[in-house]
Amino acid sequence: MSHAARLQNIPSDPYWWQARDQGRPGDTENVPATCDVAIIGSGYTGLSAAYRLASGGLKVVVIDAADLGFGASTRNGGMVSGTLKLSHKELCAAYDRDTANALFQEGQDSVLFLEQSIAEKGIDCDYQRMGMYFAAYAPKHYEALAREAEELAALGVETRMVPQAEQRSELASDIYYGGRTTVMAGGLHPAKYHAGLVAACRAAGVVFRSRCRVRRTVRQGQGYVLSTDRGSLRADQVIVATNAYSDPGMPWFLRRRVIPIGSYIIATEQMDSAKLRALIPAARMIQDTKRNLFYYRLSPDGTRMIFGGRTSFRPISSDESATRLHAAMSTVFPSLAKARVEHSWTGNVAFTFQKLPHVGQHEGIHFALGCCGQGVALMSYFGDRIGRRILGQGGDTAFARTRFTTMPGYSGHPWFLPAVGEFYRLLDWLERPKS
Ligand SMILES: Cc1cc2nc3c(=O)[nH]c(=O)nc-3n(C[C@H](O)[C@H](O)[C@H](O)COP(=O)(O)OP(=O)(O)OC[C@H]3O[C@@H](n4cnc5c(N)ncnc54)[C@H](O)[C@@H]3O)c2cc1C
Repeated sequence: MSHAARLQNIPSDPYWWQARDQGRPGDTENVPATCDVAIIGSGYTGLSAAYRLASGGLKVVVIDAADLGFGASTRNGGMVSGTLKLSHKELCAAYDRDTANALFQEGQDSVLFLEQSIAEKGIDCDYQRMGMYFAAYAPKHYEALAREAEELAALGVETRMVPQAEQRSELASDIYYGGRTTVMAGGLHPAKYHAGLVAACRAAGVVFRSRCRVRRTVRQGQGYVLSTDRGSLRADQVIVATNAYSDPGMPWFLRRRVIPIGSYIIATEQMDSAKLRALIPAARMIQDTKRNLFYYRLSPDGTRMIFGGRTSFRPISSDESATRLHAAMSTVFPSLAKARVEHSWTGNVAFTFQKLPHVGQHEGIHFALGCCGQGVALMSYFGDRIGRRILGQGGDTAFARTRFTTMPGYSGHPWFLPAVGEFYRLLDWLERPKS
């Protein structure tokens, strides 16, 4: 069979879904009449909030339009890091120093929160703090990583610069110009982590309703009425945890501020784990420094390469994304040029115009949105913060102070993305030395 033929009819379900918890038959019954807190969205944000609230004695209902965890929380790369899209220097330029420091620190602390949460709940999700490697796509990117390493050292964050000549200790690829490791990062199995959260929530008494879209949320007296596909639910409080999957049923105010961007991933066939491990000897999570970045890692059992990127800013088929990502993977690791692709999937990442998440309230409805592709630790942490806030147990976060604005003409459909994507592609190309 030709190689092109082998990149056709590839299953578009995420590799991780073999281990996901889609919900129980009872989850598709009608919604209960009342609850203390209704949570819309069953990803990490919704589940972390639900667990905290139910553990605090409240009656909580989590509702998802699809199967439990249908959104980004079972589709992501499983890379755990507290790194924000904006560097500490950029945070200081955008906010006062106290806010910048608090944002930076909470990013780092979200990893500790995640680790503690996994340990407390006894979640078996293959988590390991093996660190991350940022691979420099151009010499000037390496210089920028080095400058930032000095800033990070001053903030007490442990990193190590790896010059190109020594790079093979981290990455058996010759396309990068060195890079930087970060210790405070790791990897997990996203669907196992999600299933573990669902189990912890059920044990705490959370009620789930899946395949049940919330069509409308209306304030009534001191509470809210949610109109859903399976009846009406009256709740004292509401949390919107729909992130990049926010649909017209969600408040217009929020959709106008979140930019859903498609990200694509492939998982290869099973291969010799020793050979794969030789490609990423420390088994770290890898991200490169391009604007249209690639991110990749070994599967938790070490037998597959999981390779992702924003290969298109227009919707494309799973075969098309598999072809593009396979070509990219073969450029990074020529020895994988003949590797078969067994899964090719996509998911939506939620960006904001400020490149930072925001946690807040709108007309009394709580929300946390816009993790900009860094949500495994952060969105889990934000869900817990919202839960604590509702319980009156603190729950403050500096991310309530991030700006959360929109732009004229934007209503939730990111018509400008193809142009931005092409512009980024051009900048990436210009910065790369030509041989
Ligand atoms: C391909 C990809 C790779 C990623 N890789 C990483 C990574 O390696 N590391 C990292 O830190 N982050 C990564 N992310 C981001 C991370 O996955 C997300 O930040 C996180 O999962 C968001 O969780 P959430 O609970 O906020 O939203 P989601 O998990 O997206 O859940 C939102 C849910 O809301 C539901 N919903 C929407 N509208 C309604 C409605 N009207 N009624 C009821 N339910 C509704 C949806 O069905 C969905 O299940 C990645 C994301 C993607 C897509």
